[in-house]
Amino acid sequence: MSISCWLGKHDWVWEDATNACEMIGTCRQCKRQTAERRPLGHRWSEWQPHASGDCLAERVCKHCGTRESGGILHSWNPWSYEEDHSCGQIRTCERCGVAEHHITHCWGDYAYKAETTCDYEKQCLRCGAVSSYVNHIWHESQSQVRRYDEGDHSVTEYTSTLTCTRCGHSELKVEESTGMSNSDFQAYGGGTSNWNR
Ligand SMILES: [Zn+2]
Ligand SMILES: [Zn+2]
Ligand SMILES: [Zn+2]
Ligand SMILES: [Zn+2]
Ligand SMILES: [Zn+2]
Repeated sequence: MSISCWLGKHDWVWEDATNACEMIGTCRQCKRQTAERRPLGHRWSEWQPHASGDCLAERVCKHCGTRESGGILHSWNPWSYEEDHSCGQIRTCERCGVAEHHITHCWGDYAYKAETTCDYEKQCLRCGAVSSYVNHIWHESQSQVRRYDEGDHSVTEYTSTLTCTRCGHSELKVEESTGMSNSDFQAYGGGTSNWNR
C-alpha cells in the first residue's frame, strides 16, 4: 500500500463493474472499492409494445436488462368509413381493440354559388356537407385629401376605397395621415403664440 493510500488519497479507476449500468471505483494501489456508484446511462432499445398483449410501451436496457414502461403504442388498422354517404371514419387497434373516430370529407372544388354574389363554397362529394366563405374580388382606388388642422398644419390623408368587382360591395379606409408636427413647424420659423394652450 502506498503512502497516499494511508493518507486517504486513493488513485481511483472508475469502471463498469456492476452489470447494472453503474460504475464503481477501484484504487489502483490498494484495490479498495468505493461505496459510491456513478450512473453510466442505460443503453435503451426502441420503445416496443409490452409482451403482455396490451398496448403499453416498454424499452429494455441492452446492457443490464432494466425495463422501463411508458406511453401507449397502438397498432392501428387503416381508417375505414363507418357508413355509406357519411364521412365518419373508424380505425381499431389490432392488438387491444380500442377504436378511434374522426371525420374526413371528400371536398369538391370551391365555386361561386351565383353570378352576382361572393359566397364561395365547396361541397363534400360523399355526404353533401358544405363549407363556405365570402370571397370578394377587390379593386382598390386611392384618393388624397389635403386639409389643415387647427394649428394650420398641412395634413394629407390617403383614403382607399375597395370595391368588389363581382357584387359591388365597397369598403372605405383612411390609410395614413402625414403632416408636419408642431416642432417641425416651429423649426421652420413658423408658429403662433397660442400654440401650447
Ligand atoms: Zn488506495
Ligand atoms: Zn442498463
Ligand atoms: Zn392498442
Ligand atoms: Zn363529407
Ligand atoms: Zn363581392
